Amino acid sequence: MSQSFIAGSFLKLATSGVQQLTPYQPGKPVEELERELGITDSIKLASNENPLGPSPLALEAIKNIASSINYYPDGGGFALSNKLAQKHQLDASNITLGNGSNDILELVTRAFLTPLHSAVFSEYSFAVYPIVVQAVGAKANVAKAYPEDHETMPLGHDPAAILSQIDDSTRIVFIANPNNPTGTWLTPAALEDLFGKIADNIIIVLDLAYTEYMDEAFRPAIKKWIAKFPNLVVTQTFSKVYALAGLRIGYSISNPEIADILNRVRQPFNTNMLAQAAAIASLDDIKHVKNSVEMNNAGKGLLQDAFKEMDLKYLPTMGNFISVNVKQDGMALYEKLLQQGVIVRPVANYDMPEYLRITIGTQQQNERLIETLKQCL
Ligand SMILES: *Cc1c(COP(=O)(O)O)cnc(C)c1O
Repeated sequence: MSQSFIAGSFLKLATSGVQQLTPYQPGKPVEELERELGITDSIKLASNENPLGPSPLALEAIKNIASSINYYPDGGGFALSNKLAQKHQLDASNITLGNGSNDILELVTRAFLTPLHSAVFSEYSFAVYPIVVQAVGAKANVAKAYPEDHETMPLGHDPAAILSQIDDSTRIVFIANPNNPTGTWLTPAALEDLFGKIADNIIIVLDLAYTEYMDEAFRPAIKKWIAKFPNLVVTQTFSKVYALAGLRIGYSISNPEIADILNRVRQPFNTNMLAQAAAIASLDDIKHVKNSVEMNNAGKGLLQDAFKEMDLKYLPTMGNFISVNVKQDGMALYEKLLQQGVIVRPVANYDMPEYLRITIGTQQQNERLIETLKQCL
Protein backbone atom coordinates (compact mmCIF):
# COMPACT_ATOMS: atom_id res chain seq x y z
CA MET A 1 0.00 0.00 0.00
CA SER A 2 1.40 3.40 -0.92
CA GLN A 3 2.53 5.67 1.90
CA SER A 4 0.18 8.41 0.81
CA PHE A 5 -2.88 6.22 1.50
CA ILE A 6 -5.30 7.81 3.95
CA ALA A 7 -8.14 5.67 5.23
CA GLY A 8 -11.42 6.76 3.66
CA SER A 9 -9.84 8.25 0.58
CA PHE A 10 -11.30 5.62 -1.76
CA LEU A 11 -14.74 5.99 -0.25
CA LYS A 12 -14.61 9.66 -1.25
CA LEU A 13 -13.96 8.54 -4.82
CA ALA A 14 -17.04 6.29 -4.89
CA THR A 15 -20.26 7.69 -6.34
CA SER A 16 -22.42 9.44 -3.76
CA GLY A 17 -25.08 6.71 -3.90
CA VAL A 18 -22.45 4.06 -3.14
CA GLN A 19 -20.93 6.13 -0.31
CA GLN A 20 -24.25 6.00 1.52
CA LEU A 21 -24.86 2.29 1.00
CA THR A 22 -24.85 -0.18 3.85
CA PRO A 23 -24.16 -3.75 2.73
CA TYR A 24 -26.97 -6.32 2.78
CA GLN A 25 -26.80 -8.37 5.99
CA PRO A 26 -27.18 -12.04 5.16
CA GLY A 27 -28.30 -14.67 7.66
CA LYS A 28 -25.46 -16.14 9.71
CA PRO A 29 -24.10 -19.34 8.12
CA VAL A 30 -24.42 -22.53 10.18
CA GLU A 31 -20.70 -23.30 9.72
CA GLU A 32 -19.70 -19.92 11.16
CA LEU A 33 -21.84 -20.32 14.29
CA GLU A 34 -20.65 -23.89 14.85
CA ARG A 35 -17.02 -22.78 14.55
CA GLU A 36 -17.63 -19.99 17.06
CA LEU A 37 -19.49 -22.12 19.61
CA GLY A 38 -17.73 -25.44 19.00
CA ILE A 39 -21.08 -27.20 18.44
CA THR A 40 -22.38 -29.34 15.59
CA ASP A 41 -26.16 -29.42 15.88
CA SER A 42 -27.21 -25.84 15.15
CA ILE A 43 -30.23 -25.05 12.98
CA LYS A 44 -30.71 -22.12 10.63
CA LEU A 45 -34.17 -20.64 10.23
CA ALA A 46 -32.87 -17.30 9.01
CA SER A 47 -32.83 -17.06 5.24
CA ASN A 48 -36.11 -18.57 4.06
CA GLU A 49 -34.34 -21.55 2.53
CA ASN A 50 -36.22 -24.77 1.80
CA PRO A 51 -35.39 -27.19 4.65
CA LEU A 52 -36.25 -30.25 2.52
CA GLY A 53 -33.16 -29.67 0.39
CA PRO A 54 -33.03 -29.67 -3.40
CA SER A 55 -34.94 -32.06 -5.62
CA PRO A 56 -33.04 -35.31 -6.35
CA LEU A 57 -33.72 -34.56 -10.02
CA ALA A 58 -31.73 -31.31 -9.66
CA LEU A 59 -28.80 -33.12 -8.05
CA GLU A 60 -28.83 -35.69 -10.83
CA ALA A 61 -28.84 -32.97 -13.49
CA ILE A 62 -25.88 -31.25 -11.81
CA LYS A 63 -23.91 -34.51 -11.74
CA ASN A 64 -24.66 -35.15 -15.37
CA ILE A 65 -23.40 -31.76 -16.52
CA ALA A 66 -20.58 -31.21 -14.02
CA SER A 67 -17.88 -32.53 -16.34
CA SER A 68 -18.75 -29.85 -18.92
CA ILE A 69 -17.97 -26.82 -16.78
CA ASN A 70 -14.85 -26.11 -18.80
CA TYR A 71 -17.29 -24.66 -21.35
CA TYR A 72 -19.16 -21.39 -20.95
CA PRO A 73 -22.84 -21.82 -20.18
CA ASP A 74 -25.50 -21.09 -22.78
CA GLY A 75 -25.58 -17.31 -22.38
CA GLY A 76 -29.10 -17.12 -23.72
CA GLY A 77 -30.31 -19.92 -21.44
CA PHE A 78 -32.26 -21.37 -24.36
CA ALA A 79 -33.52 -24.57 -22.74
CA LEU A 80 -34.48 -23.01 -19.40
CA SER A 81 -36.13 -19.96 -20.97
CA ASN A 82 -38.22 -22.19 -23.20
CA LYS A 83 -39.19 -24.41 -20.31
CA LEU A 84 -40.26 -21.37 -18.27
CA ALA A 85 -42.18 -19.98 -21.24
CA GLN A 86 -44.06 -23.27 -21.44
CA LYS A 87 -44.79 -23.23 -17.72
CA HIS A 88 -46.28 -19.75 -17.93
CA GLN A 89 -47.90 -20.28 -21.36
CA LEU A 90 -45.87 -17.41 -22.77
CA ASP A 91 -42.98 -17.08 -25.20
CA ALA A 92 -39.24 -17.36 -24.48
CA SER A 93 -39.01 -13.70 -25.53
CA ASN A 94 -40.92 -12.85 -22.33
CA ILE A 95 -38.25 -14.43 -20.11
CA THR A 96 -35.01 -12.93 -18.78
CA LEU A 97 -32.74 -15.13 -16.67
CA GLY A 98 -30.87 -13.77 -13.67
CA ASN A 99 -28.12 -14.80 -11.29
CA GLY A 100 -30.84 -15.08 -8.65
CA SER A 101 -33.85 -12.82 -9.00
CA ASN A 102 -31.80 -10.16 -7.17
CA ASP A 103 -29.80 -9.90 -10.37
CA ILE A 104 -33.00 -8.98 -12.23
CA LEU A 105 -33.88 -6.36 -9.60
CA GLU A 106 -30.51 -4.77 -10.22
CA LEU A 107 -30.80 -5.01 -14.00
CA VAL A 108 -34.09 -3.13 -13.87
CA THR A 109 -32.58 -0.29 -11.85
CA ARG A 110 -29.52 -0.06 -14.09
CA ALA A 111 -31.67 0.00 -17.19
CA PHE A 112 -34.26 2.55 -16.02
CA LEU A 113 -32.88 4.74 -13.21
CA THR A 114 -30.40 7.61 -13.11
CA PRO A 115 -29.65 10.04 -10.26
CA LEU A 116 -32.49 12.16 -11.65
CA HIS A 117 -35.03 9.39 -11.08
CA SER A 118 -36.83 7.78 -8.17
CA ALA A 119 -38.24 4.38 -7.30
CA VAL A 120 -41.19 3.75 -5.01
CA PHE A 121 -41.51 0.89 -2.54
CA SER A 122 -43.18 0.32 0.80
CA GLU A 123 -41.76 0.53 4.29
CA TYR A 124 -40.77 -2.91 5.62
CA SER A 125 -40.28 -4.28 2.13
CA PHE A 126 -37.36 -6.30 0.78
CA ALA A 127 -33.93 -4.88 1.72
CA VAL A 128 -32.54 -5.33 -1.76
CA TYR A 129 -34.78 -2.59 -3.24
CA PRO A 130 -33.10 0.32 -1.42
CA ILE A 131 -29.67 -1.15 -2.16
CA VAL A 132 -30.11 -1.45 -5.91
CA VAL A 133 -31.82 1.94 -6.14
CA GLN A 134 -29.13 3.72 -4.16
CA ALA A 135 -26.32 1.94 -5.99
CA VAL A 136 -27.30 3.79 -9.18
CA GLY A 137 -27.67 7.08 -7.29
CA ALA A 138 -31.45 7.25 -7.67
CA LYS A 139 -33.87 8.39 -5.00
CA ALA A 140 -36.08 6.06 -2.96
CA ASN A 141 -39.62 7.28 -2.29
CA VAL A 142 -40.73 5.11 0.60
CA ALA A 143 -44.49 4.61 1.03
CA LYS A 144 -45.98 4.26 4.50
CA ALA A 145 -47.11 0.73 5.25
CA TYR A 146 -50.31 -0.10 7.09
CA PRO A 147 -49.95 0.52 10.84
CA GLU A 148 -49.18 -2.26 13.29
CA ASP A 149 -52.76 -2.22 14.60
CA HIS A 150 -54.28 -2.62 11.12
CA GLU A 151 -57.21 -5.01 11.26
CA THR A 152 -56.21 -7.50 8.58
CA MET A 153 -52.75 -6.68 7.25
CA PRO A 154 -50.48 -5.07 9.90
CA LEU A 155 -47.33 -3.56 8.32
CA GLY A 156 -48.65 -4.60 4.89
CA HIS A 157 -48.36 -2.67 1.62
CA ASP A 158 -50.88 0.20 1.39
CA PRO A 159 -51.79 0.77 -2.29
CA ALA A 160 -52.97 4.36 -1.68
CA ALA A 161 -49.69 5.23 0.05
CA ILE A 162 -47.72 3.66 -2.80
CA LEU A 163 -49.64 5.73 -5.36
CA SER A 164 -49.10 8.89 -3.32
CA GLN A 165 -45.30 8.44 -3.46
CA ILE A 166 -45.23 8.37 -7.26
CA ASP A 167 -44.05 11.67 -8.73
CA ASP A 168 -42.72 12.94 -12.05
CA SER A 169 -39.29 11.46 -11.38
CA THR A 170 -40.59 7.94 -10.67
CA ARG A 171 -39.54 5.24 -13.10
CA ILE A 172 -39.98 2.04 -11.04
CA VAL A 173 -42.43 0.77 -8.42
CA PHE A 174 -41.39 -2.35 -6.48
CA ILE A 175 -44.02 -4.58 -4.91
CA ALA A 176 -43.22 -7.85 -3.12
CA ASN A 177 -46.17 -10.22 -2.85
CA PRO A 178 -46.08 -11.76 -0.35
CA ASN A 179 -43.61 -9.33 1.11
CA ASN A 180 -40.42 -10.21 2.94
CA PRO A 181 -39.88 -9.70 5.91
CA THR A 182 -43.55 -9.15 6.82
CA GLY A 183 -45.18 -12.06 4.95
CA THR A 184 -48.12 -9.79 4.15
CA TRP A 185 -49.86 -9.69 0.77
CA LEU A 186 -52.31 -7.88 -1.45
CA THR A 187 -55.13 -9.78 -3.13
CA PRO A 188 -54.96 -10.25 -6.91
CA ALA A 189 -57.89 -7.81 -7.22
CA ALA A 190 -56.07 -5.17 -5.15
CA LEU A 191 -52.91 -5.60 -7.20
CA GLU A 192 -54.79 -5.34 -10.48
CA ASP A 193 -56.54 -2.22 -9.27
CA LEU A 194 -53.20 -0.70 -8.17
CA PHE A 195 -51.47 -1.51 -11.47
CA GLY A 196 -54.34 0.10 -13.35
CA LYS A 197 -53.65 3.36 -11.51
CA ILE A 198 -49.91 3.43 -12.28
CA ALA A 199 -49.00 5.23 -15.50
CA ASP A 200 -47.64 2.87 -18.12
CA ASN A 201 -44.36 4.78 -18.47
CA ILE A 202 -43.47 3.54 -14.98
CA ILE A 203 -42.03 0.03 -14.65
CA ILE A 204 -43.87 -2.11 -12.09
CA VAL A 205 -41.68 -4.81 -10.58
CA LEU A 206 -43.86 -7.48 -8.96
CA ASP A 207 -41.58 -9.69 -6.88
CA LEU A 208 -43.14 -13.15 -6.51
CA ALA A 209 -40.30 -14.93 -4.72
CA TYR A 210 -42.75 -16.82 -2.48
CA THR A 211 -45.72 -17.19 -4.82
CA GLU A 212 -45.71 -21.00 -4.71
CA TYR A 213 -46.38 -20.84 -0.96
CA MET A 214 -49.51 -18.73 -1.39
CA ASP A 215 -52.98 -20.21 -1.25
CA GLU A 216 -53.87 -20.90 -4.84
CA ALA A 217 -56.62 -18.26 -5.03
CA PHE A 218 -54.08 -15.53 -4.20
CA ARG A 219 -51.56 -16.34 -6.91
CA PRO A 220 -51.67 -13.75 -9.67
CA ALA A 221 -52.69 -14.54 -13.22
CA ILE A 222 -49.30 -13.72 -14.70
CA LYS A 223 -50.12 -14.42 -18.34
CA LYS A 224 -53.18 -12.21 -18.23
CA TRP A 225 -51.37 -9.38 -16.46
CA ILE A 226 -48.38 -9.45 -18.82
CA ALA A 227 -50.85 -8.90 -21.67
CA LYS A 228 -52.79 -6.24 -19.79
CA PHE A 229 -49.87 -4.26 -18.31
CA PRO A 230 -46.99 -3.78 -20.79
CA ASN A 231 -44.99 -2.04 -18.03
CA LEU A 232 -45.09 -5.07 -15.69
CA VAL A 233 -41.97 -7.07 -14.79
CA VAL A 234 -42.73 -10.16 -12.69
CA THR A 235 -39.74 -11.70 -10.92
CA GLN A 236 -39.55 -15.28 -9.67
CA THR A 237 -36.81 -17.37 -8.15
CA PHE A 238 -35.49 -20.91 -7.76
CA SER A 239 -34.09 -19.98 -4.33
CA LYS A 240 -37.17 -20.60 -2.25
CA VAL A 241 -39.60 -23.47 -2.91
CA TYR A 242 -37.30 -24.92 -5.61
CA ALA A 243 -34.52 -25.07 -3.03
CA LEU A 244 -31.63 -23.88 -5.22
CA ALA A 245 -30.57 -20.75 -3.29
CA GLY A 246 -26.89 -21.70 -3.39
CA LEU A 247 -26.86 -21.91 -7.19
CA ARG A 248 -28.23 -18.40 -7.81
CA ILE A 249 -30.94 -18.61 -10.45
CA GLY A 250 -34.07 -16.54 -10.97
CA TYR A 251 -35.95 -14.92 -13.83
CA SER A 252 -38.36 -12.27 -14.92
CA ILE A 253 -41.44 -12.36 -17.09
CA SER A 254 -42.23 -9.22 -19.02
CA ASN A 255 -43.19 -7.75 -22.30
CA PRO A 256 -40.47 -8.75 -24.86
CA GLU A 257 -39.40 -5.13 -25.30
CA ILE A 258 -38.51 -4.87 -21.60
CA ALA A 259 -36.87 -8.32 -21.72
CA ASP A 260 -34.73 -7.06 -24.61
CA ILE A 261 -33.67 -4.02 -22.56
CA LEU A 262 -32.74 -6.19 -19.55
CA ASN A 263 -30.79 -8.50 -21.84
CA ARG A 264 -28.73 -5.53 -23.02
CA VAL A 265 -27.48 -4.70 -19.54
CA ARG A 266 -26.96 -8.17 -18.13
CA GLN A 267 -23.59 -9.90 -18.22
CA PRO A 268 -23.36 -12.24 -21.22
CA PHE A 269 -23.06 -15.32 -18.97
CA ASN A 270 -24.95 -14.16 -15.90
CA THR A 271 -26.48 -17.57 -15.13
CA ASN A 272 -24.23 -20.59 -14.76
CA MET A 273 -24.40 -24.00 -16.36
CA LEU A 274 -25.14 -25.99 -13.19
CA ALA A 275 -27.90 -23.60 -12.18
CA GLN A 276 -29.59 -23.76 -15.57
CA ALA A 277 -29.53 -27.56 -15.58
CA ALA A 278 -30.76 -27.85 -11.99
CA ALA A 279 -33.54 -25.33 -12.59
CA ILE A 280 -34.81 -27.24 -15.62
CA ALA A 281 -34.84 -30.49 -13.63
CA SER A 282 -36.50 -28.86 -10.61
CA LEU A 283 -39.41 -27.65 -12.73
CA ASP A 284 -40.21 -31.30 -13.44
CA ASP A 285 -40.35 -32.26 -9.77
CA ILE A 286 -43.89 -31.15 -9.04
CA LYS A 287 -44.07 -33.56 -6.12
CA HIS A 288 -41.11 -31.91 -4.38
CA VAL A 289 -42.81 -28.51 -4.65
CA LYS A 290 -46.04 -29.98 -3.32
CA ASN A 291 -44.28 -31.66 -0.39
CA SER A 292 -42.42 -28.45 0.42
CA VAL A 293 -45.63 -26.41 0.46
CA GLU A 294 -47.46 -28.98 2.57
CA MET A 295 -44.64 -29.14 5.08
CA ASN A 296 -44.61 -25.34 5.18
CA ASN A 297 -48.33 -25.13 5.88
CA ALA A 298 -48.09 -27.68 8.68
CA GLY A 299 -45.10 -25.86 10.20
CA LYS A 300 -46.85 -22.51 9.92
CA GLY A 301 -49.76 -23.82 11.97
CA LEU A 302 -47.46 -25.33 14.57
CA LEU A 303 -45.44 -22.13 15.00
CA GLN A 304 -48.48 -19.85 15.05
CA ASP A 305 -50.13 -21.99 17.74
CA ALA A 306 -46.95 -21.87 19.78
CA PHE A 307 -46.70 -18.08 19.44
CA LYS A 308 -50.31 -17.75 20.60
CA GLU A 309 -49.54 -19.91 23.57
CA MET A 310 -46.55 -17.66 24.38
CA ASP A 311 -48.80 -14.62 23.97
CA LEU A 312 -46.69 -13.28 21.09
CA LYS A 313 -48.32 -11.46 18.18
CA TYR A 314 -47.19 -12.41 14.69
CA LEU A 315 -47.85 -10.93 11.27
CA PRO A 316 -50.09 -12.77 8.80
CA THR A 317 -47.93 -14.61 6.28
CA MET A 318 -48.23 -16.44 2.98
CA GLY A 319 -44.50 -17.08 2.75
CA ASN A 320 -42.22 -19.73 4.27
CA PHE A 321 -41.45 -17.49 7.25
CA ILE A 322 -43.22 -15.69 10.09
CA SER A 323 -42.34 -12.35 11.65
CA VAL A 324 -43.17 -12.40 15.32
CA ASN A 325 -43.24 -9.53 17.80
CA VAL A 326 -41.12 -10.71 20.73
CA LYS A 327 -41.98 -7.67 22.92
CA GLN A 328 -38.30 -7.01 23.64
CA ASP A 329 -35.13 -6.10 21.77
CA GLY A 330 -35.10 -8.59 18.89
CA MET A 331 -31.33 -8.36 18.49
CA ALA A 332 -30.73 -9.36 22.12
CA LEU A 333 -33.11 -12.32 21.84
CA TYR A 334 -31.48 -13.30 18.54
CA GLU A 335 -28.11 -13.42 20.34
CA LYS A 336 -29.58 -15.60 23.10
CA LEU A 337 -31.03 -18.02 20.56
CA LEU A 338 -27.67 -18.10 18.76
CA GLN A 339 -25.99 -19.26 21.96
CA GLN A 340 -28.42 -22.20 21.91
CA GLY A 341 -27.52 -23.01 18.31
CA VAL A 342 -30.68 -21.57 16.76
CA ILE A 343 -30.18 -18.99 14.02
CA VAL A 344 -33.14 -16.73 13.21
CA ARG A 345 -33.26 -13.29 11.64
CA PRO A 346 -33.35 -10.03 13.59
CA VAL A 347 -35.07 -7.35 11.51
CA ALA A 348 -33.98 -4.11 13.20
CA ASN A 349 -32.42 -3.16 9.85
CA TYR A 350 -35.99 -3.21 8.48
CA ASP A 351 -37.07 -0.84 11.23
CA MET A 352 -38.75 -3.70 13.12
CA PRO A 353 -36.53 -3.85 16.24
CA GLU A 354 -38.96 -5.91 18.32
CA TYR A 355 -39.51 -8.57 15.69
CA LEU A 356 -37.73 -11.74 14.69
CA ARG A 357 -38.29 -13.28 11.28
CA ILE A 358 -38.36 -17.03 11.57
CA THR A 359 -38.15 -19.34 8.57
CA ILE A 360 -40.56 -22.27 8.80
CA GLY A 361 -38.45 -25.42 9.01
CA THR A 362 -38.96 -29.15 9.28
CA GLN A 363 -41.15 -30.35 12.13
CA GLN A 364 -38.06 -31.18 14.17
CA GLN A 365 -36.52 -27.76 13.55
CA ASN A 366 -39.79 -26.01 14.40
CA GLU A 367 -40.08 -27.92 17.66
CA ARG A 368 -36.49 -27.05 18.57
CA LEU A 369 -37.16 -23.39 17.79
CA ILE A 370 -40.29 -23.34 19.97
CA GLU A 371 -38.55 -25.03 22.87
CA THR A 372 -35.48 -22.77 22.68
CA LEU A 373 -37.61 -19.64 22.32
CA LYS A 374 -39.60 -20.57 25.42
CA GLN A 375 -36.35 -20.97 27.35
CA CYS A 376 -34.91 -17.66 26.15
CA LEU A 377 -37.99 -15.49 26.66
C1 LIG B 1 -35.52 -14.39 -1.20
C2 LIG B 1 -36.12 -13.28 -1.98
C3 LIG B 1 -35.80 -13.11 -3.32
C4 LIG B 1 -34.93 -14.12 -4.03
O1 LIG B 1 -33.68 -13.69 -4.27
P1 LIG B 1 -32.74 -14.59 -5.17
O2 LIG B 1 -31.74 -13.59 -5.66
O3 LIG B 1 -33.56 -15.14 -6.29
O4 LIG B 1 -32.16 -15.64 -4.31
C5 LIG B 1 -36.38 -12.08 -4.02
N1 LIG B 1 -37.25 -11.26 -3.43
C6 LIG B 1 -37.62 -11.41 -2.15
C7 LIG B 1 -38.63 -10.51 -1.58
C8 LIG B 1 -37.04 -12.41 -1.39
O5 LIG B 1 -37.35 -12.53 -0.11
